[in-house]
Amino acid sequence: MGKQAKEMIVQGLDVVNLSQGEPDFSTPDNISLKAVAAISHHETDSYTTTSGLTELKQAVVSRVQLDYQTTINPDQVVVTTGAKLALFTLMQTLVDPGDLVVTPAPFWVSYSEQVKLAGGTLAVVQPTNLECKLTIKSLETLDQKPKLVILNTPNNPSGSVYTKDELAALIKWTEGNGVYLILDEIYGKLVYGDTKFHSGLELMPIAGSRVIIINGVSKSYAMTGWRIGWAIADEEITAAMNKLLGHLTSNPTVAAQYAAIEALTGPQTSVELMRQAFERRLNLIYDGITKINNLSVPFKPQGAFYLFFKVDPEFMQGHNYEDTNQVSMALLNEEMLAIPAGEGFGMPGYLRLSYAKSAADLTEALKRLEHFFND
Ligand code: PLP
Repeated sequence: MGKQAKEMIVQGLDVVNLSQGEPDFSTPDNISLKAVAAISHHETDSYTTTSGLTELKQAVVSRVQLDYQTTINPDQVVVTTGAKLALFTLMQTLVDPGDLVVTPAPFWVSYSEQVKLAGGTLAVVQPTNLECKLTIKSLETLDQKPKLVILNTPNNPSGSVYTKDELAALIKWTEGNGVYLILDEIYGKLVYGDTKFHSGLELMPIAGSRVIIINGVSKSYAMTGWRIGWAIADEEITAAMNKLLGHLTSNPTVAAQYAAIEALTGPQTSVELMRQAFERRLNLIYDGITKINNLSVPFKPQGAFYLFFKVDPEFMQGHNYEDTNQVSMALLNEEMLAIPAGEGFGMPGYLRLSYAKSAADLTEALKRLEHFFND
């Protein structure tokens, strides 16, 4: 679907593309200009240490202190070429062939592929609650003890956010059972309504723990193209990551590292303005979709910028769609609307749209969905 949608867009067709997981805002100027200044002062001409500029690791340390009143040290931080590379490096570092990795469905598509690339086996826990959250009960019913659990809060694609108590209980379980826990907190700044985001960093000291925090600038600062993310973990883990990264990338692009320093230490007003815009768009798309026949939203997302919604199985049967992949293709061909199917996120029967798009695009998408699904 993604490939065909891109081809149709290149041909100049009027495709409304709600498939991309990236803000439609520009990177704030104060951030971009720091990269420009670093280039003109030739600060970008040489390698940095593999784990990133000391100033950037210090900026991560300071942001953690400000946001969560938690003290970490720069050696517990590894800056990578996007959070995706931090996750890939961790899988390669922690997962051996045959190891079991657990994540609840629905999950971000790259987790499954990265686990496979490390030779691990992914056990997908199907949710038993509306918010699709992992519970201790589901971990205890597994036949084999996992090596690693991956949690994403706020979640792409479901939009669920773990409460402090839920997170504390899961950390207690993984630590108590000697299991690594990756907490992917890349959407942590994007929560809505009265939802409060809680980071694993509030709940336990990183030193000596098996909890690894993933974050980056892509989503909260509209910087997907800059490719800066990081992992925060015990020094034994960060040292192992640095060994591998030293032979992979050496260091993330230096101009982007300078931009990320400004993102983390400069004014945070643009983050809040973008968050408010996402919240308005969530309300627009949620209200619209809940009114369309044959579609339902199990629960209103609390964070990130996706809506994960269910297609009525009777509608699919009545129109001879065997799965939601076919529904997604039909939406593209018949309505010129690009919305990926739940299959890739480990949950068939659903579609996932990104509402990080203009209100005009979202309103047009709602019209096309209504035309397609209203019998
Ligand atoms: N984690 C999740 C849950 C994501 O949705 C994404 C991007 O879509 C990433 C990590 C990767 O982010 P980055 O752009 O920093 O590689």
